[in-house]
Amino acid sequence: MNKGLLIVVSGPSGAGKGTICKQLLKLEPDVMLSVSATTRAPRTGEIEGKNYYFLSKNEFESLIEKDEFLEYANVYGNYYGTPKKYVEEKNLEGKNVLLEIDIQGALQIKEKYPHGVFIFILPPSAKELKHRIVNRGTETEAAIEQRFKSAFDEINYVKKYDYCVVNDDVDAAVDKVKAIIKAERCRITEDIDSIISRFKEEI
Ligand code: 5GP
Repeated sequence: MNKGLLIVVSGPSGAGKGTICKQLLKLEPDVMLSVSATTRAPRTGEIEGKNYYFLSKNEFESLIEKDEFLEYANVYGNYYGTPKKYVEEKNLEGKNVLLEIDIQGALQIKEKYPHGVFIFILPPSAKELKHRIVNRGTETEAAIEQRFKSAFDEINYVKKYDYCVVNDDVDAAVDKVKAIIKAERCRITEDIDSIISRFKEEI
């Protein structure tokens, strides 16, 4: 069976990657979300096991020691990490797994899994980016400034990714991500020899 894709979506806070991923998951039953672990406090409405696994710093560090993360990073003073088991199991079942993670994490994954599909979501403009971070209303003034400043630094990393999707319209951006996935499913990989053999056996 073909292994599933490891799809990594990142981009600055406010680029709209969360909205794009949510919509993509609704439209593509073959794409499963990897739920991350974090030490940040839950925001209103966030659900344990759905949005994140909310852990204490000690719990998180013990999982680091047990090598249970595919990647982890410190983002804005909190740990965030991708549990390894779920991703590996689903990929082996042939499911595509979606990771919505920061750039540090994406670069770690690229080292270990260069065959992953790395997609960077860009906001349409700096002005729009600030507007989105402010309007989300979930952050303090200081956190807004920090996220905006990081966004400026982070944009340089787009060059490390395979694809860049500008999010000026959510539906169009989702369509582009769907097209990337479709194309990546047709990419020639190591499996090609078994496909050729099976084809020849039928004759
Ligand atoms: P938030 O606190 O807004 O939910 O997320 C803050 C940042 O952490 C976002 O850029 C988000 O993509 C990133 N993030 C979420 N989960 C993970 C993860 O498992 N690993 C890494 N490296 N970053 C993550």
